Amino acid sequence: MRSIIKLIQGACTMNRLGSTVELLAGLRTQLESVLTLGEGAGNMVNIKRLPSPIIESYEWQWEGACMGVDSSVFFSPEAERGMKRHRREESAKAVCATCPVIDRCREHALAVQEPYGVWGGLTESERTEILAGRQAAVG
Ligand code: SF4
Repeated sequence: MRSIIKLIQGACTMNRLGSTVELLAGLRTQLESVLTLGEGAGNMVNIKRLPSPIIESYEWQWEGACMGVDSSVFFSPEAERGMKRHRREESAKAVCATCPVIDRCREHALAVQEPYGVWGGLTESERTEILAGRQAAVG
C-alpha cells in the first residue's frame, strides 16, 4: 500500500502524470478513503496538510526542472540503500539545483511534510532534520 500511495502522491504533486486540478481532487478523495483503512501510521502521508486542489496551489510545479524527468530519479525503489541511494539522490539534487521554483518546492514539501523523495533539493532525512529543528525552536 505504501508504494501505491508514494506513486500516487509523487505523480500527483509533482505533475508527473500531467495531471489536472480535477485529477488532484479525485486522487485526494481516493487517498482519503485509502488512508482511513489504516496501515502503520508512522510515515504515512497526512493529506490534511496538502494544499487545496485549486490551480494556484499547484501551478508553480509546471515550472519545475523535473518536468519530464523520470520520477525514479526523485523517489527511491523499495529497500534502496547505501551508495546507490546516495547517487540517485545526488542526481535528483542536481536537477533541483537548476530549478527556478526550488524555494517554493522546498517550502511546500516542508509544509505538507512530504514523507518520500527529493523535493526542493532536500532528501527525506534532510527535511526531517529541518522540521525537527523548527519544532525544537518553538519548544
Ligand atoms: S525543486 Fe526539484 S523537485 Fe522541486 S520542482 Fe524543482 S526540480 Fe522538481
